[in-house]
Amino acid sequence: MDDVIKKGLSIVSELRDHGFEAYIVGGAVRDYHIGRKPKDVDVVTSASPDEIRTLYPHAFQINRQFQTLTVHLQKVAIEVSTLRGGSIEDDLCSRDFTINAMALAMNGDIIDPTGGKTDLENGVIRSFHPEARFKEDPLRMLRAPRFASELGFTVAKGTAEAIKGSCSLLADVAVERVEKELTQLMIGTHRSSGWCLLHETGLYPFIPGVSLSKETVLRMKEISRSPGLLPADGFWAILYLLENRSMKLPLAKEKKKRIRTIVHYVGERQNHSWNETMLYQASLSVATVVEQIRALFGQASVHEEELRQLWSSLPIQTRTELAVTGRDVMAHFQKKGGPWLADTLADIEEAVLLKHIENEKKSIIQWLEERRVES
Ligand code: ATP
Ligand code: MG
Repeated sequence: MDDVIKKGLSIVSELRDHGFEAYIVGGAVRDYHIGRKPKDVDVVTSASPDEIRTLYPHAFQINRQFQTLTVHLQKVAIEVSTLRGGSIEDDLCSRDFTINAMALAMNGDIIDPTGGKTDLENGVIRSFHPEARFKEDPLRMLRAPRFASELGFTVAKGTAEAIKGSCSLLADVAVERVEKELTQLMIGTHRSSGWCLLHETGLYPFIPGVSLSKETVLRMKEISRSPGLLPADGFWAILYLLENRSMKLPLAKEKKKRIRTIVHYVGERQNHSWNETMLYQASLSVATVVEQIRALFGQASVHEEELRQLWSSLPIQTRTELAVTGRDVMAHFQKKGGPWLADTLADIEEAVLLKHIENEKKSIIQWLEERRVES
C-alpha cells in the first residue's frame, strides 16, 4: 500500500479510536485506484473543527471557511475536515466530480454513491448534477480540463455541455484559486487535451486575472503536443510571452519575478548567446528553462550539459561567494556605506567573474588599492 495512504489511514484510525467516524476521501482514493502516487491526503471526520484541534494541537488551519486543518506526518500533508452534510454520503455528493467522490474506510471498504469507480475505469470526468454544482462553485469548471490534462480522461457529454452553458461564471472566482488548477493543467501528461478543452468549452476568456485569447490557447495546445516537459514557471513564461506580456500573472510576487526574469532572458537570447556574465546574472536554472522554451518554439537551443559546464567554470556563482563582503570594503576604505559601496561591490564581482582578479581577499584588496591610485 502506498505510504501516503498509510499515513492517512493512521489518522483515520486515531480519529476512530476517539469515537469519531473517519475516512480518506478525494484525490488520494482516486489516485490509489489508478496506481498513481497521491500528492496529499484528505480525511473527513464526524469530529468538529474544535475536536480536531484538540486532538492535533499543532495542526495548521489554512482556511476558516472550509474548516480544514492540515496535520503533517513526516512530510505528508494530511488535510482533516469535518464532514459536510450529515453523512459521508452527503459529503461525497457535494464534491466536484464522481472520480473525486469516493471514500476509503479503515476496513478497506469503498463508499461510492455517485458511481466514481465506473467513471474512473472508463476514464470519464463527470459531475453529479453539473449545472447546479458549477453554479455553486464555478472553479469546478476549470478543474475539468485540469484533470483531463493530468489523467488523460475525457469529459462526460452532459458535464461538457454544462460547462459551455455556464462558462462565463468562472470570471467571478477569486484570482488566487486559479494558479493551482492552471499550473496542473499546463504540466499534465495530457496537457494538449487540457488546452483543447479550454478552447472547446469556451472557458478560456473567463479565467480570472488571466483571460486568454483564442490564438494563445490554440498555440499552447500545439506547443503542448511536444513531449518536452518544462517546469511550471516555463509554461507560465510562454503564456506571458504569447499574450505579449499584457496578461496579469495570478501568482505570488516571487513567482512573478522569476517568470519576468525568464521572459527577459528569452528576449536577450534572440540577440546573444550565453557568456559568463549573462549566465551568472540569469542563473543556471533560468538559463535551462530559457533553452527549453527555445526548443519548444523550434529555435536552436543550447544543451543543458553545455550550460552546466559553463556554469561550473564560473569563478563564483552568486555574490555571497565573493571573498570580500561589504563590511570588508567599508573597513578597508574606512568609509560608511552608501551608493559607492554597491558600485564597488558590483565592480569586484565583475572583475572576479571575468577572471581579471582571483577571488581572494588579498588580491581583491590589492586591486582596490591600485584602482584608488589610478583614479
Ligand atoms: P490533487 O491530486 O491535485 O491534490 P485532488 O483531487 O486531491 O487533486 P484537491 O484540490 O487536493 O484535489 O481537493 C481534494 C478533494 O476535495 C477533491 O478530490 C474533491 O473531492 C474536493 N474538492 C476540491 N475542490 C473542490 C471544489 N471546488 N468543489 C468540490 N469539491 C472539491
Ligand atoms: Mg489533493
